[in-house]
Amino acid sequence: MLNINLPGYTLVLLSALSTHCLAADPIALRWSQVSQPTLTSSPQSIGTYTSGCISGAVLVPATGMGYQIMRPSRKRAFGHPELKNFIVNLGQTASHQNLGNILIGDLGQARGGPTVSGHRSHQTGLDVDIWFLSSQHANTHTLSYDERESWSAPSVLLKNTIYLDPRQWSKTNESVLAAAASRPEVDRIFVNPSIKRELCMKYYKEDWLRKIRPWWHHDDHFHVRLKCPVGNPNCQTQEALPAGNGCDAGLAWWFTEEAKHPTPSPILTKPAELPKLCEAVLHQ
Ligand SMILES: [Zn+2]
Repeated sequence: MLNINLPGYTLVLLSALSTHCLAADPIALRWSQVSQPTLTSSPQSIGTYTSGCISGAVLVPATGMGYQIMRPSRKRAFGHPELKNFIVNLGQTASHQNLGNILIGDLGQARGGPTVSGHRSHQTGLDVDIWFLSSQHANTHTLSYDERESWSAPSVLLKNTIYLDPRQWSKTNESVLAAAASRPEVDRIFVNPSIKRELCMKYYKEDWLRKIRPWWHHDDHFHVRLKCPVGNPNCQTQEALPAGNGCDAGLAWWFTEEAKHPTPSPILTKPAELPKLCEAVLHQ
């Protein structure tokens, strides 16, 4: 999930969604060392997706109907109960549509917060990475622990290009994305710009396409972000999506030189300070 090269883009660019060479940050270290969620009857996502935490997270079971959690050793299968419900429901849809088991990557830590490596987002228990299913991943058996640790998600792009690899890209991927984006609790889904372009050619009339947004990387998994759950007043939502299906000039920008060299570089932007409420969550 982390060592993702961005085919077609020579720049080593670290996006706000996934960064993987931050020095071990002492604050992130504290969050990573807490192994249990706080117990509460009212789970709360607090702060923003990139600077926040969660109280009352739940652990998503490693195996469910139509889905399996990958990389169990990372211990990042915690999320808001609404995120768990989303995964369970998407798995059931995949199962009913015979799409194979959906492979789930990172959710968040037991109490959310920053991680020592990997994601800058995924902090409030409302983000999840889902691998793109390819023929080799269209499995129907329950993967062993070792398989979950050793399998890797292949890029759906032809090496060093911005074109989808027909051996890796399939109607199954499109069906899973459509099912995920159609769910009302989903705020947006990040995919590689080349994937968005492909979907624009085939599904430009579909309402769910608006939620699928281009972003750097995301050629071997897609990133689902839920809306702030009702009754979570300290959860800060992201700016609303622009009108339209996103198949316009905004998408064309992603294929320009400027997109390859954005300023300011996300790598230079420091994460915001965590909300005060998160200190209490950490020490509870
Ligand atoms: Zn992600």
